[in-house]
Amino acid sequence: VSITRVAIIGAGHIGASIARACALKLPDVRVALYDASEAVRARAREIALGEIAEAPQEAVRDADLVILCVPVGAMAAAYASVSAALKPGAILSDVGSVKGAVIAAIKPRDDVFFVPGHPLAGTEQSGPDAGLARLFENRWMIITPLADERLAYKQAAADLAAFWSALGANVDVMDPARHDVVLAVVSHLPHLIAYNIVAMAEDLEQVTESEVVKYSASGFRDFTRIAASDPIMWRDVFLNNKEAVLEMLGFFTEGLTALQRAIRLGDGAMLHETFARARRVRREIIEAGQDSAAINFGRDQKP
Ligand code: NAP
Repeated sequence: VSITRVAIIGAGHIGASIARACALKLPDVRVALYDASEAVRARAREIALGEIAEAPQEAVRDADLVILCVPVGAMAAAYASVSAALKPGAILSDVGSVKGAVIAAIKPRDDVFFVPGHPLAGTEQSGPDAGLARLFENRWMIITPLADERLAYKQAAADLAAFWSALGANVDVMDPARHDVVLAVVSHLPHLIAYNIVAMAEDLEQVTESEVVKYSASGFRDFTRIAASDPIMWRDVFLNNKEAVLEMLGFFTEGLTALQRAIRLGDGAMLHETFARARRVRREIIEAGQDSAAINFGRDQKP
Protein backbone atom coordinates (compact mmCIF):
# COMPACT_ATOMS: atom_id res chain seq x y z
CA VAL A 1 0.00 0.00 0.00
CA SER A 2 1.39 3.41 -1.02
CA ILE A 3 -0.31 5.06 1.98
CA THR A 4 2.00 5.42 4.97
CA ARG A 5 0.21 7.99 7.15
CA VAL A 6 -3.47 7.86 7.94
CA ALA A 7 -5.53 10.38 9.88
CA ILE A 8 -8.87 9.42 11.36
CA ILE A 9 -11.34 12.15 12.34
CA GLY A 10 -13.86 10.67 14.80
CA ALA A 11 -12.46 7.95 17.07
CA GLY A 12 -15.72 6.05 17.63
CA HIS A 13 -16.71 2.52 16.62
CA ILE A 14 -15.64 2.76 12.97
CA GLY A 15 -12.67 5.14 13.42
CA ALA A 16 -11.26 3.00 16.24
CA SER A 17 -11.82 -0.16 14.19
CA ILE A 18 -9.82 1.30 11.27
CA ALA A 19 -7.02 2.21 13.72
CA ARG A 20 -7.04 -1.31 15.20
CA ALA A 21 -7.15 -2.93 11.76
CA CYS A 22 -4.16 -0.84 10.62
CA ALA A 23 -2.17 -1.86 13.71
CA LEU A 24 -2.88 -5.51 12.95
CA LYS A 25 -2.60 -5.59 9.16
CA LEU A 26 -0.51 -2.56 8.19
CA PRO A 27 1.86 -2.13 11.15
CA ASP A 28 4.12 0.24 9.18
CA VAL A 29 1.30 2.71 8.62
CA ARG A 30 1.24 5.56 11.16
CA VAL A 31 -2.23 6.38 12.44
CA ALA A 32 -3.21 9.71 14.01
CA LEU A 33 -6.69 10.26 15.42
CA TYR A 34 -8.74 13.24 16.49
CA ASP A 35 -12.19 13.32 18.08
CA ALA A 36 -14.29 16.35 18.97
CA SER A 37 -15.02 14.82 22.38
CA GLU A 38 -12.34 15.33 25.00
CA ALA A 39 -13.50 12.20 26.85
CA VAL A 40 -13.15 10.13 23.66
CA ARG A 41 -9.64 11.51 23.06
CA ALA A 42 -8.64 10.64 26.63
CA ARG A 43 -10.04 7.13 26.32
CA ALA A 44 -8.42 6.62 22.89
CA ARG A 45 -5.08 7.56 24.43
CA GLU A 46 -5.61 5.18 27.36
CA ILE A 47 -6.31 2.21 25.11
CA ALA A 48 -3.47 3.18 22.71
CA LEU A 49 -5.46 3.55 19.50
CA GLY A 50 -2.69 5.58 17.86
CA GLU A 51 -1.30 9.11 18.05
CA ILE A 52 -4.10 11.18 19.54
CA ALA A 53 -4.06 14.79 18.37
CA GLU A 54 -5.47 17.67 20.40
CA ALA A 55 -6.59 19.53 17.26
CA PRO A 56 -7.98 18.21 13.95
CA GLN A 57 -5.38 20.14 11.88
CA GLU A 58 -2.61 18.47 13.82
CA ALA A 59 -3.96 14.97 13.05
CA VAL A 60 -4.15 15.50 9.27
CA ARG A 61 -0.84 17.28 8.76
CA ASP A 62 1.37 15.02 6.54
CA ALA A 63 -1.41 12.40 6.19
CA ASP A 64 -1.64 10.65 2.80
CA LEU A 65 -5.14 9.51 3.65
CA VAL A 66 -7.70 11.29 5.85
CA ILE A 67 -10.87 9.37 6.76
CA LEU A 68 -13.85 11.20 8.24
CA CYS A 69 -15.52 8.78 10.70
CA VAL A 70 -18.19 11.04 12.21
CA PRO A 71 -22.01 10.89 11.95
CA VAL A 72 -23.32 11.83 8.50
CA GLY A 73 -24.72 15.15 9.77
CA ALA A 74 -21.28 16.13 11.14
CA MET A 75 -19.29 15.40 7.93
CA ALA A 76 -19.34 18.99 6.66
CA ALA A 77 -18.11 20.35 10.01
CA ALA A 78 -15.43 17.66 10.26
CA TYR A 79 -14.19 18.49 6.75
CA ALA A 80 -14.20 22.23 7.47
CA SER A 81 -12.07 21.61 10.55
CA VAL A 82 -9.27 19.93 8.55
CA SER A 83 -9.57 21.40 5.04
CA ALA A 84 -6.87 24.09 5.32
CA ALA A 85 -4.36 21.69 6.90
CA LEU A 86 -4.61 18.87 4.33
CA LYS A 87 -1.40 17.98 2.51
CA PRO A 88 -1.62 18.75 -1.24
CA GLY A 89 -2.28 15.47 -3.05
CA ALA A 90 -3.84 13.84 0.02
CA ILE A 91 -6.73 11.40 -0.34
CA LEU A 92 -9.81 12.44 1.57
CA SER A 93 -12.40 9.78 2.33
CA ASP A 94 -15.26 9.04 4.70
CA VAL A 95 -17.23 6.08 6.03
CA GLY A 96 -20.71 7.64 6.13
CA SER A 97 -23.71 5.34 5.74
CA VAL A 98 -25.25 7.73 3.17
CA LYS A 99 -23.27 8.88 0.13
CA GLY A 100 -25.32 11.45 -1.84
CA ALA A 101 -25.75 13.83 1.10
CA VAL A 102 -22.09 13.56 2.18
CA ILE A 103 -20.90 14.28 -1.37
CA ALA A 104 -23.23 17.30 -1.52
CA ALA A 105 -21.96 18.56 1.85
CA ILE A 106 -18.23 18.33 1.08
CA LYS A 107 -16.67 20.51 -1.60
CA PRO A 108 -13.03 19.49 -1.46
CA ARG A 109 -10.05 21.62 -2.38
CA ASP A 110 -8.80 21.13 -5.97
CA ASP A 111 -5.49 19.69 -4.79
CA VAL A 112 -6.96 16.90 -2.65
CA PHE A 113 -8.76 13.81 -3.96
CA PHE A 114 -12.12 13.12 -2.33
CA VAL A 115 -13.06 9.45 -2.71
CA PRO A 116 -16.16 8.72 -0.61
CA GLY A 117 -16.72 5.25 0.83
CA HIS A 118 -18.85 3.13 3.13
CA PRO A 119 -17.71 -0.08 4.83
CA LEU A 120 -20.68 -2.44 5.23
CA ALA A 121 -19.49 -3.56 8.61
CA GLY A 122 -20.38 -2.51 12.10
CA THR A 123 -22.11 -3.56 15.25
CA GLU A 124 -24.69 -1.91 17.49
CA GLN A 125 -21.88 -0.51 19.64
CA SER A 126 -20.28 2.92 19.57
CA GLY A 127 -17.26 4.70 21.01
CA PRO A 128 -13.51 4.02 20.99
CA ASP A 129 -13.75 0.81 23.06
CA ALA A 130 -15.80 -0.74 20.25
CA GLY A 131 -12.79 -0.75 17.91
CA LEU A 132 -12.38 -4.21 16.39
CA ALA A 133 -9.27 -5.07 14.34
CA ARG A 134 -11.10 -7.69 12.29
CA LEU A 135 -14.37 -5.80 11.76
CA PHE A 136 -13.81 -5.38 8.01
CA GLU A 137 -12.62 -8.90 7.23
CA ASN A 138 -14.68 -10.45 4.45
CA ARG A 139 -17.08 -7.49 4.55
CA TRP A 140 -17.87 -5.18 1.64
CA MET A 141 -16.31 -1.75 1.32
CA ILE A 142 -18.24 0.31 -1.20
CA ILE A 143 -16.33 3.12 -2.86
CA THR A 144 -18.41 5.78 -4.67
CA PRO A 145 -15.89 7.85 -6.67
CA LEU A 146 -16.83 11.28 -8.01
CA ALA A 147 -17.03 11.99 -11.74
CA ASP A 148 -13.42 13.16 -11.83
CA GLU A 149 -11.50 12.15 -14.95
CA ARG A 150 -8.02 13.18 -13.74
CA LEU A 151 -5.52 10.33 -13.81
CA ALA A 152 -4.33 11.27 -10.33
CA TYR A 153 -7.91 10.96 -9.08
CA LYS A 154 -8.22 7.46 -10.52
CA GLN A 155 -4.92 6.59 -8.84
CA ALA A 156 -6.25 7.94 -5.51
CA ALA A 157 -9.36 5.74 -5.83
CA ALA A 158 -7.14 2.72 -6.59
CA ASP A 159 -4.92 3.50 -3.58
CA LEU A 160 -7.96 3.76 -1.31
CA ALA A 161 -9.25 0.41 -2.62
CA ALA A 162 -5.84 -1.19 -1.97
CA PHE A 163 -5.85 0.21 1.59
CA TRP A 164 -9.25 -1.35 2.37
CA SER A 165 -8.27 -4.66 0.73
CA ALA A 166 -5.25 -4.73 3.03
CA LEU A 167 -7.62 -4.36 6.01
CA GLY A 168 -9.41 -7.49 4.79
CA ALA A 169 -12.41 -5.95 3.04
CA ASN A 170 -13.80 -6.83 -0.41
CA VAL A 171 -13.98 -3.59 -2.36
CA ASP A 172 -16.80 -2.71 -4.77
CA VAL A 173 -17.28 0.49 -6.75
CA MET A 174 -20.78 1.95 -7.03
CA ASP A 175 -22.59 5.07 -8.13
CA PRO A 176 -23.55 7.14 -5.03
CA ALA A 177 -27.27 7.27 -5.87
CA ARG A 178 -27.34 3.52 -6.42
CA HIS A 179 -25.54 3.03 -3.09
CA ASP A 180 -28.20 5.05 -1.27
CA VAL A 181 -31.07 3.02 -2.75
CA VAL A 182 -29.40 -0.34 -2.09
CA LEU A 183 -28.53 0.65 1.48
CA ALA A 184 -32.07 1.89 2.07
CA VAL A 185 -33.18 -1.72 1.42
CA VAL A 186 -30.46 -3.72 3.18
CA SER A 187 -29.72 -1.45 6.11
CA HIS A 188 -31.77 1.70 6.62
CA LEU A 189 -35.26 0.18 6.37
CA PRO A 190 -34.40 -2.82 8.61
CA HIS A 191 -33.20 -0.37 11.25
CA LEU A 192 -36.37 1.71 10.97
CA ILE A 193 -38.51 -1.42 11.32
CA ALA A 194 -36.50 -2.57 14.34
CA TYR A 195 -36.75 0.85 16.00
CA ASN A 196 -40.48 0.86 15.37
CA ILE A 197 -41.20 -2.64 16.66
CA VAL A 198 -39.14 -2.12 19.81
CA ALA A 199 -40.76 1.25 20.49
CA MET A 200 -44.20 -0.28 19.84
CA ALA A 201 -43.62 -3.10 22.31
CA GLU A 202 -42.59 -0.56 24.90
CA ASP A 203 -45.76 1.44 24.27
CA LEU A 204 -48.15 -1.52 24.45
CA GLU A 205 -50.09 -1.24 27.64
CA GLN A 206 -51.51 -4.74 27.75
CA VAL A 207 -48.04 -6.33 27.66
CA THR A 208 -45.92 -5.36 30.61
CA GLU A 209 -42.33 -4.55 29.93
CA SER A 210 -41.15 -7.45 32.05
CA GLU A 211 -43.04 -9.91 29.84
CA VAL A 212 -41.50 -8.39 26.73
CA VAL A 213 -38.04 -8.91 28.25
CA LYS A 214 -38.82 -12.34 29.70
CA TYR A 215 -40.11 -13.86 26.45
CA SER A 216 -37.88 -11.87 24.11
CA ALA A 217 -35.98 -14.90 22.75
CA SER A 218 -39.09 -15.71 20.66
CA GLY A 219 -37.91 -13.23 18.00
CA PHE A 220 -38.12 -9.78 19.55
CA ARG A 221 -34.56 -10.05 20.87
CA ASP A 222 -33.09 -10.08 17.38
CA PHE A 223 -34.80 -6.76 16.61
CA THR A 224 -33.50 -5.21 19.83
CA ARG A 225 -29.91 -5.79 18.72
CA ILE A 226 -30.46 -3.66 15.63
CA ALA A 227 -32.48 -1.11 17.60
CA ALA A 228 -29.62 -0.68 20.10
CA SER A 229 -27.56 1.18 17.46
CA ASP A 230 -26.41 4.73 18.04
CA PRO A 231 -29.41 7.13 17.95
CA ILE A 232 -27.40 10.10 16.57
CA MET A 233 -25.90 8.06 13.76
CA TRP A 234 -29.32 6.74 12.75
CA ARG A 235 -31.11 10.06 13.09
CA ASP A 236 -28.58 11.42 10.58
CA VAL A 237 -29.04 8.48 8.20
CA PHE A 238 -32.79 9.09 7.93
CA LEU A 239 -32.44 12.87 7.67
CA ASN A 240 -29.91 12.42 4.86
CA ASN A 241 -31.33 9.53 2.81
CA LYS A 242 -34.89 10.74 2.82
CA GLU A 243 -35.94 10.01 -0.78
CA ALA A 244 -34.62 6.46 -1.05
CA VAL A 245 -35.92 5.51 2.40
CA LEU A 246 -39.39 6.95 1.72
CA GLU A 247 -39.56 5.10 -1.60
CA MET A 248 -38.61 1.78 -0.01
CA LEU A 249 -40.95 2.43 2.91
CA GLY A 250 -43.74 2.77 0.32
CA PHE A 251 -42.98 -0.73 -1.06
CA PHE A 252 -42.69 -2.09 2.46
CA THR A 253 -46.05 -0.68 3.55
CA GLU A 254 -47.74 -2.14 0.46
CA GLY A 255 -46.27 -5.55 1.28
CA LEU A 256 -47.35 -5.29 4.89
CA THR A 257 -50.87 -4.33 3.85
CA ALA A 258 -50.99 -7.35 1.52
CA LEU A 259 -49.93 -9.62 4.40
CA GLN A 260 -52.50 -7.99 6.68
CA ARG A 261 -55.20 -8.69 4.09
CA ALA A 262 -54.04 -12.31 3.67
CA ILE A 263 -54.31 -12.83 7.42
CA ARG A 264 -57.77 -11.26 7.51
CA LEU A 265 -59.01 -13.37 4.57
CA GLY A 266 -57.29 -16.56 5.77
CA ASP A 267 -55.19 -16.70 2.56
CA GLY A 268 -52.69 -19.35 3.72
CA ALA A 269 -51.27 -19.84 0.22
CA MET A 270 -50.20 -16.19 0.03
CA LEU A 271 -48.61 -16.29 3.49
CA HIS A 272 -46.81 -19.55 2.72
CA GLU A 273 -45.49 -18.31 -0.62
CA THR A 274 -44.15 -15.07 0.94
CA PHE A 275 -42.46 -16.83 3.87
CA ALA A 276 -40.90 -19.48 1.59
CA ARG A 277 -39.38 -16.74 -0.60
CA ALA A 278 -37.94 -15.06 2.48
CA ARG A 279 -36.36 -18.29 3.64
CA ARG A 280 -34.60 -18.68 0.30
CA VAL A 281 -33.02 -15.24 0.75
CA ARG A 282 -31.62 -16.34 4.12
CA ARG A 283 -30.02 -19.39 2.45
CA GLU A 284 -28.47 -17.19 -0.24
CA ILE A 285 -26.92 -14.94 2.43
CA ILE A 286 -25.32 -17.95 4.11
CA GLU A 287 -24.10 -19.32 0.77
CA ALA A 288 -22.53 -15.91 0.03
CA GLY A 289 -20.55 -16.18 3.29
CA GLN A 290 -22.31 -13.13 4.80
CA ASP A 291 -23.62 -15.03 7.85
CA SER A 292 -23.23 -18.27 9.73
CA ALA A 293 -25.48 -21.28 9.11
CA ALA A 294 -25.30 -22.21 12.82
CA ILE A 295 -28.65 -22.65 14.56
CA ASN A 296 -29.85 -19.37 16.15
CA PHE A 297 -26.78 -17.51 14.77
CA GLY A 298 -24.54 -19.82 16.84
CA ARG A 299 -25.92 -18.60 20.17
CA ASP A 300 -26.90 -21.06 22.90
CA GLN A 301 -24.47 -23.70 21.60
CA LYS A 302 -23.06 -26.03 24.20
CA PRO A 303 -19.31 -26.62 23.78
P1 NAP B 1 -19.52 6.71 16.97
O1 NAP B 1 -19.01 5.48 17.61
O2 NAP B 1 -20.61 7.49 17.63
O3 NAP B 1 -18.28 7.70 16.70
C1 NAP B 1 -18.39 8.98 16.12
C2 NAP B 1 -17.41 9.90 16.84
O4 NAP B 1 -17.25 11.11 16.07
C3 NAP B 1 -17.89 10.33 18.23
O5 NAP B 1 -16.87 10.12 19.18
C4 NAP B 1 -18.17 11.84 18.03
O6 NAP B 1 -17.95 12.61 19.20
C5 NAP B 1 -17.17 12.20 16.97
N1 NAP B 1 -17.47 13.46 16.28
C6 NAP B 1 -18.67 14.01 15.99
N2 NAP B 1 -18.50 15.16 15.30
C7 NAP B 1 -17.18 15.33 15.13
C8 NAP B 1 -16.36 16.32 14.51
N3 NAP B 1 -16.90 17.36 13.85
N4 NAP B 1 -15.01 16.20 14.57
C9 NAP B 1 -14.44 15.16 15.20
N5 NAP B 1 -15.16 14.19 15.82
C10 NAP B 1 -16.50 14.27 15.79
O7 NAP B 1 -20.08 6.41 15.47
P2 NAP B 1 -19.65 5.26 14.44
O8 NAP B 1 -20.53 4.09 14.62
O9 NAP B 1 -18.18 5.09 14.43
O10 NAP B 1 -20.10 5.95 13.06
C11 NAP B 1 -19.29 6.89 12.40
C12 NAP B 1 -19.68 6.96 10.93
O11 NAP B 1 -19.57 5.65 10.36
C13 NAP B 1 -21.11 7.43 10.66
O12 NAP B 1 -21.12 8.30 9.55
C14 NAP B 1 -21.84 6.15 10.31
O13 NAP B 1 -22.91 6.42 9.41
C15 NAP B 1 -20.76 5.33 9.66
N6 NAP B 1 -20.89 3.87 9.76
C16 NAP B 1 -21.31 3.28 10.91
C17 NAP B 1 -21.44 1.91 11.00
C18 NAP B 1 -21.92 1.24 12.26
O14 NAP B 1 -22.42 0.13 12.20
N7 NAP B 1 -21.76 1.83 13.41
C19 NAP B 1 -21.09 1.12 9.89
C20 NAP B 1 -20.61 1.73 8.73
C21 NAP B 1 -20.52 3.12 8.67
P3 NAP B 1 -19.25 13.03 20.10
O15 NAP B 1 -19.74 11.77 20.71
O16 NAP B 1 -18.70 14.02 21.06
O17 NAP B 1 -20.24 13.63 19.15
